[in-house]
Amino acid sequence: MIQIQNFINGEFRQPLGLKYIDNFEPATGKVFSQVPQSTVADVGLAVESAKAAAPAWAACSPDERANYLSSIAAFIRDGAEEFAQAESQDNGKPLSLARGVDIPRSALNFEFFAAAARTKSSESHHGEGAINLTRRDPLGVVACISPWNLPLYLLTWKIAPALAAGNTVVAKPSELTPYTAFLLGNAFKVAGLPPGVVNLVHGYGAEAGAPLCEHPDVKAISFTGGTATGRGIALSVASQFKKVSLEMGGKNANIVFADCDFDEAVHTSVRAAFANQGQICLCGSRILVESEIYEQFRDRFVQLVSELRVGDPLRAETDQGALVSKAHYQKVLTAIAAAEQEGGRVLCGGRSVPGDGRCEGGWFVAPTVIEGLGPQARTNQEEIFGPVVTLIPFEDEAEALEIANGTNYGLAASLWTQDLNRAHRLSAKLDAGIVWVNTWMNRDLRTPFGGMKESGLGREGGWEALRFFTEAKNICISYK
Ligand code: NAD
Repeated sequence: MIQIQNFINGEFRQPLGLKYIDNFEPATGKVFSQVPQSTVADVGLAVESAKAAAPAWAACSPDERANYLSSIAAFIRDGAEEFAQAESQDNGKPLSLARGVDIPRSALNFEFFAAAARTKSSESHHGEGAINLTRRDPLGVVACISPWNLPLYLLTWKIAPALAAGNTVVAKPSELTPYTAFLLGNAFKVAGLPPGVVNLVHGYGAEAGAPLCEHPDVKAISFTGGTATGRGIALSVASQFKKVSLEMGGKNANIVFADCDFDEAVHTSVRAAFANQGQICLCGSRILVESEIYEQFRDRFVQLVSELRVGDPLRAETDQGALVSKAHYQKVLTAIAAAEQEGGRVLCGGRSVPGDGRCEGGWFVAPTVIEGLGPQARTNQEEIFGPVVTLIPFEDEAEALEIANGTNYGLAASLWTQDLNRAHRLSAKLDAGIVWVNTWMNRDLRTPFGGMKESGLGREGGWEALRFFTEAKNICISYK
C-alpha cells in the first residue's frame, strides 16, 4: 500500500492528525494508496513555512529561479515513465495518454516558465517630463488548487508560473489523484529547491482546501475545478479582497458546418468528445451540426465512437480507460438515464462496461452519443464531465450561435468551416474564452487561457499567469 505524504518545508511529513483517506485505482475499484487527511493545522504549518521562505525566494535573480525550474523539469522528464504509470493508476486514464500528454506537458510547464522567468520584461511609459516604471513584484504566499482530471498537468501549470514570478506556494492537489503530486516532492528535493518554497498539502477540499484559501497569509488563489467550488471559494475570501483566478466548468459547443473538411471534422470531434473519458474541461460535449449534413455526420460519428476500445488503461490499444471514482461513474450513468427520461435517444453506449481480468471491479462507461434533445434540455445545459455527448442539428449560422451561447458556461468552442469570413464572424461573437477553428486542444502556452460567464474569472497562461501572480506598482519619476 502506497502511503502518500504531505511535503512541507522541504520534507515529506505525515498529517498531524495521522488520519488517511483510502484512495482507489479506478480501473480495478480497489484501494491502492492512502492520502493524508490534512486539516487546518497542516495547512497552518505549510503556510508558515512558505511565508518564511518567501523573502529569500523573491530576492533570487530570475536566472536562479529559472535554473531551479529547469531542474524540476529535468527530473520529470527523467522519471517520465514512473510519473505516467502513477498518473494512469491514480486517475484511470490510458497509460498511453499519460505518457503522451500529461507527463510531457508537466515537464514543459516548468521549462516554459523557466524561460518566462529569464525573458520577462517590465513596462515603462514615457510622459511629458516624467517616466513611469512599472514594477511587478511577487505577492508572497499563494495557493494553487487543482482537480483530478489532468492531475500533474494542471498542478504544474499553476506552480510553475507562481514560482517564476517569485512567490512561494502551498498547493492542494485533488484528494482523488494525489499520487503524481507526491512524486513531485522528490523533484523539489533533487532540484535543491529551498525548503518552504513549495509545499504540498493533501486532503479534502472542505478540510484542507478551504482553510488554505481563507488563511490570512495567503495572498492569491489559483483554482481549477468545478463552478460550485469556485463560487464558494470566491465568496469565502471576498471580504479579504484576495486575488482569485478561477478556471471552472464547461459545456463546450463543437460547431460543424456543411462546408467543413468532413473527415477531419468528424475524427477530431470524436477526440474532442472522448479524450480522457470526456473528462477535460475543454471537451466538446455539445456537437452542433448543420442540418444539411446532420445524418451523414451522425452516422459516421457514431460508427467511429462505436469503434473506441474501452478497458484496462495499461493496454496499448485502449482508447478509453476508467472514470475517476465510483461516485463520478454513478453520476455519469445517472446523467445518461436522465437524458433518456427527458426524451434523448441513445445512439451508442449508454451503459457501463464490465472490466475483465484485473479490471473486473473497474468503473468503465461506454462512450455515449445522444440525439433528440433541445438546446434547453438539462443534458445540454449541465456539465456531465464524462464520456457523454449530444448531437444537435441547426439550420443556419444565427441558430448555431444562439445554441452555442445559450448556456451559463463560456469556456471553449470549436468551429468547423472552410469559410474564412464565417470563421472570423462567429469567433468574435461566441461567448467563449477560447475558440478553435478547424482544430481542438491546440494549445500554445503563450496564449491567454480561461473562460467567460460561469466558466471562469481571470486568465492563466503566458504573461497572463505572471501578471496574476504579481502585484503591479507604478513609479513615476519626474525630470527637468
Ligand atoms: P472540484 O471543484 O470538486 O475540486 C477541485 C479542487 O478543489 C480539489 O482539489 C478539491 O479538493 C478542492 N476543493 C473542494 N472544495 C474546496 C473548498 N471548499 N475550498 C478549497 N478547495 C476545495 O472539481 P473536480 O471534481 O476535482 O474537477 C472537475 C471540475 O473541474 C469540472 O467541473 C471541470 O470542468 C473543471 N475543470 C476546469 C478546468 C479549466 O481550466 N476551466 C480544467 C480542468 C477541470
